[in-house]
Amino acid sequence: CFVTFEGADGAGKTTQIKLLYEFLREQGHNVLLTREPGGTGISDSIRALLLDPKNSEMRHQTEVLLYAASRAQHVREKIIPALEEGKIVLCDRFVDASLAYQGYGLGLPLEEIININQFATGGLTPDITYFLDLPAEISRERLKQRFAAYKGPDRIESKPAEYHQKVRQGFAEICRKYADRIVKINAARSIETIQKEVRDHFLHYLTN
Ligand code: C5P
Ligand code: MG
Repeated sequence: CFVTFEGADGAGKTTQIKLLYEFLREQGHNVLLTREPGGTGISDSIRALLLDPKNSEMRHQTEVLLYAASRAQHVREKIIPALEEGKIVLCDRFVDASLAYQGYGLGLPLEEIININQFATGGLTPDITYFLDLPAEISRERLKQRFAAYKGPDRIESKPAEYHQKVRQGFAEICRKYADRIVKINAARSIETIQKEVRDHFLHYLTN
């Protein structure tokens, strides 16, 4: 079973996916927790290129292809083998992020992004996607705190507010378009409340 988490930066994906991972392991499930961009040695090297704020000259097309290249490696080296072993795979971001960030955000044609990613993934699609939905003001506030606490923004996070607004609208469109597999979660609540909703939904999915 292939499960992805999506949402804007600061929506709480990483926190929620880790909690779900720990819960499922305690329940005796065999689970792989992984993330994009990254998840393998090669993919992590590509992630460093993508997120380095010094790479401000990176062209949009390069960005799309690097995310897809990272994903191609990750899918074949880690995700598919884990699925073949019968594991539950929990992945922090996947193709939906490319549609939102590179498609809607950068204004590149969605068809091209879909085709490039079809090639990259061999057509692998999540069974369920949890989309953590958070108003822009709250995610911006959380990010500000995060940057103050331990690191500055990465190359994508440093893009202007208008860019992030387009990404948000993109995610809203994607949720409508793929409503059969995307579960929208109100992320403006406590960590525990959100986690309970995700767990309840996923356990129900597993037993049906
Ligand atoms: O999920 P995480 O915060 O680790 O993602 C790292 C960065 O990559 C974020 O700034 C995110 O917005 C960006 N990203 C992107 N396009 C994708 C996936 C992630 O711009 N397809
Ligand atoms: Mg981030």
